[in-house]
Amino acid sequence: MKGRIVREQLYSELDLQIKKLHNPNLRDRAKTKKHILRLLGKNKFKKPYQSAWWRDYRAAKVNKLLASGKCECPECGAACCSPTLQHVWHPTPFRVLCTQNINDQDFISAIPEYIELQEKKKSGLNAQEYKNLIYHRRKTNPTFEDEEIMTYAYAKASSNYALGYFSSDELLLFHIEEVRRHIELLDKDYKFVCKGCAFKEDKPIIDSGKLSDVPYFLLSEGCTRRDLLAQAIIDRLAQNL
Ligand SMILES: [Zn+2]
Repeated sequence: MKGRIVREQLYSELDLQIKKLHNPNLRDRAKTKKHILRLLGKNKFKKPYQSAWWRDYRAAKVNKLLASGKCECPECGAACCSPTLQHVWHPTPFRVLCTQNINDQDFISAIPEYIELQEKKKSGLNAQEYKNLIYHRRKTNPTFEDEEIMTYAYAKASSNYALGYFSSDELLLFHIEEVRRHIELLDKDYKFVCKGCAFKEDKPIIDSGKLSDVPYFLLSEGCTRRDLLAQAIIDRLAQNL
């Protein structure tokens, strides 16, 4: 079928990203990582269960299960003729991995270099970039009020570029392998339960909107590193305006 994504395509896309990360001569590693993170954020990787290939795979598994006469939910014992595929394993969100693995001291000592790198780019940390970002976000001309400056600083701190800059290649490689495993659908990573049990198990995640209570690196309000980076951005911007 034309334009249809198949699992093999996803694997080769992941392989390509790994190859890029292993290139020692990247001109701007953080930029490459930004693009990789953006790719991994797409639904074909983040929500593969929305893909046709996934639904086909599940349907085949369900048919096999029903053909074998197993019509009982392993959790509650209820008879169920349309079992739900339920993951028992999920990839850890990359920003959670970062919060768990990036050491405070390493992070703090990398901030000045990040600021320098931003400035070296033609349009980093100056009035022009500020105007562009505010216009893009708010569709208004900048007023340079405190709240607006915060918007700018936190937008930069939570960007995929900053995420790529402050995370190690190893961590991103680890994450790519978890994304691959999620797509692989290993037998040990899922089970079939009835709709009621699936709903009960998913409810806490649906209610909170997230898989983990750990703050998302450079994104959540609870991430102290986000505040440190935003402050460094504000300080340098003030010098450049
Ligand atoms: Zn059940």
